[in-house]
Amino acid sequence: MKETRNTKQFETIRSIITNAGRPLSIDEMQKSALEELDSIGLRTVYRAVRRMEEMDEIQSIKVQGRADRYELSSIASSHHHHFHCTACDRLFDIHGCPGGLSDLLPKGFQMDNHDILLTGTCDTC
Ligand SMILES: [Zn+2]
Ligand SMILES: [Zn+2]
Repeated sequence: MKETRNTKQFETIRSIITNAGRPLSIDEMQKSALEELDSIGLRTVYRAVRRMEEMDEIQSIKVQGRADRYELSSIASSHHHHFHCTACDRLFDIHGCPGGLSDLLPKGFQMDNHDILLTGTCDTC
């Protein structure tokens, strides 16, 4: 019985992450899950997230001073950036990349990767 409940909770979290259309925090996942389930604890959400990370289904995104967000590995694997709304604390995908960043490097430096986080307010804030 308990196993069934755990499976249902796990599948709920997985489908929330899959259908979110943007990276989610643990809190946001719990909020969405509570629209479908009678109850789900933060600890359970963490466990589901940890399990999906171990299975390489999702990746974490660090947002300085805020909770980590998670996105599908299939999305993470294609180069893109993020926009953080400082009013509602939601993170959105930004498609496209300015490129040309190696021009900024001091002589002799070599860039392997870059990370760009845009901040501001989203269209609903
Ligand atoms: Zn916003
Ligand atoms: Zn880029």
